[in-house]
Amino acid sequence: MKIYKNFISFEGIDYSGKSTQIQELQKRLQDNGIETIVLREPGGTPISEKIRDLLLSNDHSEMHRITEFLLYEAARAQLVHQKILPLLDKNIHIIADRFYDSTTAYQGYGRKLNLEVIQTINRFATSNLQPFKTFFIDISPEEAEKRHQYQNRNKDRLEKSGLQFYQLIRAGFTQMCRKEPERFIRIEGERKSAEIAGEIWTHISRLWPVKT
Ligand code: ADP
Repeated sequence: MKIYKNFISFEGIDYSGKSTQIQELQKRLQDNGIETIVLREPGGTPISEKIRDLLLSNDHSEMHRITEFLLYEAARAQLVHQKILPLLDKNIHIIADRFYDSTTAYQGYGRKLNLEVIQTINRFATSNLQPFKTFFIDISPEEAEKRHQYQNRNKDRLEKSGLQFYQLIRAGFTQMCRKEPERFIRIEGERKSAEIAGEIWTHISRLWPVKT
């Protein structure tokens, strides 16, 4: 595996608070003289953004789960080789809002694609690049649904199958934390944002020494 100390990722189900925490972390790092680049998956390069549009569009409900999987990997391959690796080689700090663990969780544990195939293609797409640390922000699907409803008052509640799907994904992330305890840091996400940010900061200031 290719591991750069200046590359970390955030994972978790939708609405777990990844963007909120990444934004806060980026601000704190900047205040401490560390500039970071935040990259969001899928996307981050012109090709990857086009693939993102295809993946997130409502026009393609016929998309097969294998097609979906390969499109995520294609977007990731372009992002890693066009952007992430060149930046890491220049010693720039990168925070990824989702990386290949999301594919393992959603397409593997969620949509039941073969986990070994996913691991092989994850490695192939990234030329074996692995995040130095991965923060898994853990919330229950019920909490995610509450946040979803709060944000989208006019939309229907998530379907029951939606909740079950998110249960599978959450269980997948939990399993992945057990398999790679050195890399994953599980963060209890059903707390006040400021408290979560404080805990993440404690970890980060050890990983990336800052002058606090
Ligand atoms: P993600 O990037 O994981 O989808 P966001 O950071 O966009 O999550 O947060 C999703 C929603 O939940 C937003 O409306 C945000 O304001 C809210 N939120 C984020 N963190 C918390 C928290 N700790 N407690 C309650 N709500 C939160």
